[in-house]
Amino acid sequence: MAWHAVLDLLFPPQCASCNAIGSGFCDICAPRAQRIVARFPSLRVRAFGFYEGPLRAAVLALKDGRRDVAGALGSRVAALVEPDSVLVPIPTTSRRLRARGLDGVAAVARAAAARAGANFLAVLKQQSGDAQRGRSRAERLAAAGRFSCGYEVAARRVTLFDDVCTTGSTLRDCATAVRSAGGIVEDAVVVALTKSGSSWGIAMER
Ligand SMILES: [Zn+2]
Repeated sequence: MAWHAVLDLLFPPQCASCNAIGSGFCDICAPRAQRIVARFPSLRVRAFGFYEGPLRAAVLALKDGRRDVAGALGSRVAALVEPDSVLVPIPTTSRRLRARGLDGVAAVARAAAARAGANFLAVLKQQSGDAQRGRSRAERLAAAGRFSCGYEVAARRVTLFDDVCTTGSTLRDCATAVRSAGGIVEDAVVVALTKSGSSWGIAMER
């Protein structure tokens, strides 16, 4: 028996929002039929839902290192991932990774790629350890060049992946790094989009 299966027996998946047993994010709590799209000049960001209510609870549980929640979110977000695309997660700083014990963004991206029939490539690296937390919007926008990208993406169509999108500046910085490495990137998929702090257009697709 794989250790994942043993863990599931000892600690069964439990919904991050309502605590129901069976899934890290249950059918009742997950947003339905919602496709939120935020458009930047050179990047289209699709979100599974807004960063509020049960979905916010799920993202916070992911940040706490909950593997069951990562798997459940990956399965649900897979509907936004194009088959045969290359899904590239936004990197977590190693300090935060050690604190959590799980790179939640990479874990969701890996699960989503597997479900969607897409490729998974963790090729982005953050060059400085500075977290975005506590920075002003102006500082975030000035922070381009923080990321580097492996050349495995050259001439390939990349979809960036992150847990939460607020101003989009991290995604745009990562898109710049992917393009510098020769990759083609027009799309990003995120678990949740914040309603506040967004100065760009949001549209709903059904
Ligand atoms: Zn639930």
